[in-house]
Amino acid sequence: AKRVVIKVGTSTLVYPDGSINLRAIDQLAFVISAMRHRGRDVVLVSSGAIGVGLNYMGLKQRPKAIPEQQAIAAIGQSELISIYKERFAIYEQKIGQVLLTRDIFVYPKSHRNVLNTFDALLAQNVVPIVNENDTTAVDELDHETKFGDNDQLSAVVATNIGADLLIMLSDIDGFYDANPNEDAKAQLLAHIEKVDQQTYDLAGGSGSRFGTGGMVTKLKAAERMIKADGQMILANGEDPSIIFQIIAGEPVGTLFG
Ligand code: ADP
Repeated sequence: AKRVVIKVGTSTLVYPDGSINLRAIDQLAFVISAMRHRGRDVVLVSSGAIGVGLNYMGLKQRPKAIPEQQAIAAIGQSELISIYKERFAIYEQKIGQVLLTRDIFVYPKSHRNVLNTFDALLAQNVVPIVNENDTTAVDELDHETKFGDNDQLSAVVATNIGADLLIMLSDIDGFYDANPNEDAKAQLLAHIEKVDQQTYDLAGGSGSRFGTGGMVTKLKAAERMIKADGQMILANGEDPSIIFQIIAGEPVGTLFG
């Protein structure tokens, strides 16, 4: 895979107590910079804006009102991107921020503009760091402008920029035959060739305080990748250097496709 999209969940970036996992961010910066040096195009889709925003503002939980949530997202996004910028700079890697809304991929002109921007960033050896633009839409029900979760956004980005591999890092080792939070006997499934209703029946919601999508949105992302003849690997992002193993073709996590 020459072009790779990596998606990190909030649970990888923010500890359960709300503080920021700087070690994970530093590891990510290191791994992605190394991949760039080896000639790969890497796009990072990063969640965590609200988690980082809450920490920055010294708040313990999400405010209830939508405008306040959007404000926290705006605050957290700029803080998150400055942390990335600082960490990537240690490895002499430049980054660029790309904030997207769903409608971008609907209108042909904005669609083209976005793809050209990705190409131009990658051609200049810059790592695009993508998130949903929460300032315009934070309402999970607002399906017209909002993807709702970065899992699906990362698959949309991957298929559009011609990446055949999506690496999805979460707080779990892979996809299990039952929700591991509820079933102690749940077994890891190493390979899922196709995603169908049977697969969805095994998926549960999010277990973490800040996580949003749970397994369902990750399966939807996998489904989208497979439809486009691509693959997705779901693995534990606790130590992001796991990406080296994935790139080397070692069997970690769950391979979809
Ligand atoms: P992230 O913040 O990384 O996007 P989420 O918390 O949204 O992660 O989703 C991952 C969680 O989904 C896991 O920690 C687990 O609690 C839950 N989950 C539900 N069903 C499954 C399953 N079948 N296999 C693995 N995890 C599952």
